[in-house]
Amino acid sequence: MRDQYSPALDVAYRRALRFHEARKSVPTKASATGDQLLEAFGGPMPEVGMAPATVIERLADAAEPGLTGTAGPHFFAWVMGASHPVGVAADWLTSMWGQNGAGYHSCPANAAAEAVASKWLLELLQLPPECSVGFTTGGTMSHFVCLAAARGELLRRQGWDVEADGLFGAPQITVCVGADAHVSVFSALRYLGFGQRRVVVIPTDPDGRMDPNELRRAIAKVNEPLLVIAQAGQINTGAFDSMHTIAESTHEQEGWMHVDGAFGLWARACPPRAYLAQGVEQADSWTTDGHKWLQAPYDCGFAIVRDASAHHRAMTVQASYLPVTGEEVRDPKEWVPELSRRARGFATWALLCAFGKDGISAMVERHCQLAERMSAGLAREPGIHVLNKVELNQFLVRFTCAEMSEQSDQATKDVIAQLDTEGTVFFSGAAWKGMWVMRVSVISWATTEPDVDKAMSVIIEAWRNVKGKTEESGSLN
Ligand SMILES: *Cc1c(COP(=O)(O)O)cnc(C)c1O
Repeated sequence: MRDQYSPALDVAYRRALRFHEARKSVPTKASATGDQLLEAFGGPMPEVGMAPATVIERLADAAEPGLTGTAGPHFFAWVMGASHPVGVAADWLTSMWGQNGAGYHSCPANAAAEAVASKWLLELLQLPPECSVGFTTGGTMSHFVCLAAARGELLRRQGWDVEADGLFGAPQITVCVGADAHVSVFSALRYLGFGQRRVVVIPTDPDGRMDPNELRRAIAKVNEPLLVIAQAGQINTGAFDSMHTIAESTHEQEGWMHVDGAFGLWARACPPRAYLAQGVEQADSWTTDGHKWLQAPYDCGFAIVRDASAHHRAMTVQASYLPVTGEEVRDPKEWVPELSRRARGFATWALLCAFGKDGISAMVERHCQLAERMSAGLAREPGIHVLNKVELNQFLVRFTCAEMSEQSDQATKDVIAQLDTEGTVFFSGAAWKGMWVMRVSVISWATTEPDVDKAMSVIIEAWRNVKGKTEESGSLN
């Protein structure tokens, strides 16, 4: 029976559908300024409540000019998925059902969806079936969960109960991280009391892979518990660390190997690319995201740990008012921090069903091929340089020619600025190995070959413009 709230739901549905159907032409950058957005949302808080449908209409009107093109086909700036409609539909239901997904007893259906999706994920990513999986809000929190399990287990082996006694006075742990690790690794280390500076930084190769010989050398002298954090898919280049060698050296020292595979782990779901992530299965824990290559709506990540009891010890919560479940059922709150949270199993389950193994493999392969196509096309233009071997979906570009070798950083920034002004594609810059570069991530489910070809021609035109201006004036701005 319709009630006063039904019209608000109608508006949300209509506005969401309109957004979805206009996905290809949604501007890639926010058209409103920060001040305009504050004004659109601002004014005094209403004394009297507004009509539900009006609120939702006003929300959409205020927000849309401040949205970016992450859900569209022309967004290449960062490694972000594109909120697939099937995941969104599952998420609508999740919100309407209003379940607290943390407890088995507060929502047995979510517990079941998580249990089945966990099993499917391990199969898809070819990880050991005995692993436990926590449904997190993303990669950063997955690192947090996995590294908490590592911390607890490494110290337990030293006779120290960190869950009970904390870190003060605990034995030291040596943490080794590659020089091109993702920032989120350092966030997690910070939250867990490891300290982001108290790490041994292992040098990397030009594509950002940890040097396994340097690692071996660094840990040869270590006689305290050891934690090594490797990477499957470097954020800029998509490069994979040498997993076999790193696992061997880490395990020789009885250390714990964690892998940041936020997006790269999905190469394992794609037979032609799986070789890239070979040996990853030898690690002890893995971070991966659902809101990247799986295209799940935010927030969606997975913390995967081989030693389920270490995982459980690090995250379990008990209180007299919380019903206890037996070993045989999954209690979602035992594997991640929050005690009240979204029922995260539904969207993941729905997307795994909607894509199927074949669909995920095909999407990953398509993105990799599109990245190859775009990088090769760009590299044919004089002055455009692709800096890494493109094996996955990520690559780096630098714009320079003989006359402007001193000003290549500026030229690259100018091209990105031109693309911003042009406004139909979205790319970002980054500092990489002492240079300014343009980053390219091909990861939206909505991106097709014509989108990539269009992006390519817009980039080439921007570069020709920048080059032309330099030739006229002799210098860049
Ligand atoms: C995105 C990303 C992360 C962080 O994940 P969030 O979901 O953004 O917290 C970590 N590592 C890599 C390689 C990433 O690409």
